Amino acid sequence: MAGTGIFTEILDGEVYKYYSDGEWKTSSSGKSVAIVNPTTRKTQYKVQACTQEEVNKVMEMAKSAQKSWAKTPLWKRAELLHKAAAILKENKAPIAESLVKEIAKPAKDSVTEVVRSGDLISYCAEEGVRILGEGKFLLSDSFPGNERTKYCLTSKIPLGVVLAIPPFNYPVNLAVSKIAPALIAGNSLVLKPPTQGAVSCLHMVHCFHLAGFPKGLISCITGKGSEIGDFLTMHPAVNCISFTGGDTGISISKKAGMIPLQMELGGKDACIVLEDADLDLVASNIIKGGFSYSGQRCTAVKVVLVMESVADELVEKVKAKVAKLTVGPPEENCDITAVVSESSANFIEGLVMDAKEKGATFCQEYKRDGNLIWPLLLDNVRPDMRIAWEEPFGPVLPVLRINSVEEGINHCNASNFGLQGCVFTKDINKAMLISDAMETGTVQINSAPARGPDHFPFQGLKDSGIGSQGVTNSINLMTKVKTTVINLPTPSYSMG
Ligand code: NAP
Repeated sequence: MAGTGIFTEILDGEVYKYYSDGEWKTSSSGKSVAIVNPTTRKTQYKVQACTQEEVNKVMEMAKSAQKSWAKTPLWKRAELLHKAAAILKENKAPIAESLVKEIAKPAKDSVTEVVRSGDLISYCAEEGVRILGEGKFLLSDSFPGNERTKYCLTSKIPLGVVLAIPPFNYPVNLAVSKIAPALIAGNSLVLKPPTQGAVSCLHMVHCFHLAGFPKGLISCITGKGSEIGDFLTMHPAVNCISFTGGDTGISISKKAGMIPLQMELGGKDACIVLEDADLDLVASNIIKGGFSYSGQRCTAVKVVLVMESVADELVEKVKAKVAKLTVGPPEENCDITAVVSESSANFIEGLVMDAKEKGATFCQEYKRDGNLIWPLLLDNVRPDMRIAWEEPFGPVLPVLRINSVEEGINHCNASNFGLQGCVFTKDINKAMLISDAMETGTVQINSAPARGPDHFPFQGLKDSGIGSQGVTNSINLMTKVKTTVINLPTPSYSMG
């Protein structure tokens, strides 16, 4: 159970502690933040509302701990990460339980998230040992006008303090996808977990604590993003921000100083379906892509752009599959569970009502109970409807019928987002041309968009992000190249 066994020390009465200087602490604010269970709509957990002084202290520790961490051999850093991964996986049950209660993720998927996170940490340790253990050696005489008098040695050095801010939908996985690369590269790490998902993150951080990382190297500050977010992101001690979330990321990038940013933001992933597509395959992928975790995934299929000639058949197939989705509590592994908050449910409802007023065809009756919204397919959606452009982050999927491939590509490219997209066709040449024409960070051919496997590069164009994720890219982003040049008194050529 959450907060018991090896996790007892992270709890103070009914409020979870924050993590600073290698210890679990109660905030001097005397205030806590409630985490409301999306299913019951009752307070499930409470976390500390940390103060600015506590943030200052954590940053000071992070700066000094990083200096000695950067001198720790790579193999030792990797060893500790492997240890943390093993502890995390051994303790998947209580962490998964918190995911179920705080973000209403179906129980099985919650376990998968924790296990996947352990695997990501281990993969990152191995990749770090490989790529950080290598540098470049350059000779000066390859550039015109130079003799071979200069030997240039390049290596990758840490940035300093990395601030990690993950979103609610994959709080553990998207936290470790920032923590592990930062640490293997020799950085220290300050985590600000999402409020919904904070308790899962605190359990995960305790696994790093038990692995024996040095004091102050990892910290976890809890509190509402709207209250301490600006203070954290604009803190002078921060040398890199790795953020995943919504539009908040755009305002952070405008306020942040001259530091590297890794921003993974929203998406409106289009699914373009051509006449020759395998419609059964498309329908299964629309269900998986559009409705897994109730549509609350950055890479969810968020708009279907289907050729008119096959639209009726596809909509019928998807409708039949939607009818089989189970709706209810995450504890029972239902496909569709409550969305994260009442405000999210209200926002989704606003998009649905707008589509209704403007004449979209409802393939199912719209149904809502609290934060639980039944899966809904909206056919004959037109570009003047909000749902054609906005990200519902819920189990509601619009279908726009198109008369040409160009119309589909134009709709995809007119979006302010550019995260992923997918195209279904049996013609690989067409698929390649469409992929090249789509202004998105990734295009999946004959499968729904997806972030994983976690070592694949993952990036968004336009308002969907800055930089690229995926284990290797994250390690590279959290390092800087350093060169040392050896200057010889005379040109020197081996075997010359
Ligand atoms: P969000 O509201 O932007 O919150 C993301 C994180 O930012 C949370 O930890 C939040 O903390 C924190 N935050 C809020 N205000 C802040 C501020 N002023 N300064 C610093 N941090 C602040 O996003 P969300 O609702 O959790 O997640 C849904 C969004 O994430 C969707 O748009 C989705 O597409 C996107 N997403 C993108 C990816 C990707 O890789 N591209 C992956 C997953 C999700 P609090 O919870 O305390 O407010």
